[in-house]
Amino acid sequence: MADGPGFRTAIYCAGCKHACKGCHNPESWDFKAGRWMDVEELLEVIKSDDLSDVSFSGGDPFYQVEAFTELARRIKEETHKTIWCWTGFTLEEIQASAQLSQLLPYLDVLVDGPFILEQRDTDLLFRGSPNQRIIYLHGKPPEDDIPGTVALEPLR
Ligand code: SF4
Repeated sequence: MADGPGFRTAIYCAGCKHACKGCHNPESWDFKAGRWMDVEELLEVIKSDDLSDVSFSGGDPFYQVEAFTELARRIKEETHKTIWCWTGFTLEEIQASAQLSQLLPYLDVLVDGPFILEQRDTDLLFRGSPNQRIIYLHGKPPEDDIPGTVALEPLR
């Protein structure tokens, strides 16, 4: 329930190069940490819980963008679950890259940007510093009333 609103299946991927000072999960920086799970195995776990939506975290999922794009596409095609994704890249950095931006059409919400220790604010929901934005990529559903969120015009 800390990884977005409601019950969620949270996938913590291995690997991050942003090296934010004060990172909450430095053990996840190692690309060889954890254990390998392929898309089919992850889908099985995700689909086994009817009630939970999905969150991608880490590490940074955008360092494995092809696999997360495939996973997110399958989640959208085969379930009605929403997907939240955390990244140390900003939305603008992602949009400037054809490789990184392939994941965006399948995400409902992007929580973007590096954690900045000097701006740490424990009162913020779902993020550690105020530079990080909770961005509804395809418009904000009226029932989601989370303070501090940003809604973009639909991307797709
Ligand atoms: S982007 Fe996230 S996981 Fe990566 S160093 Fe920054 S806070 Fe840690």
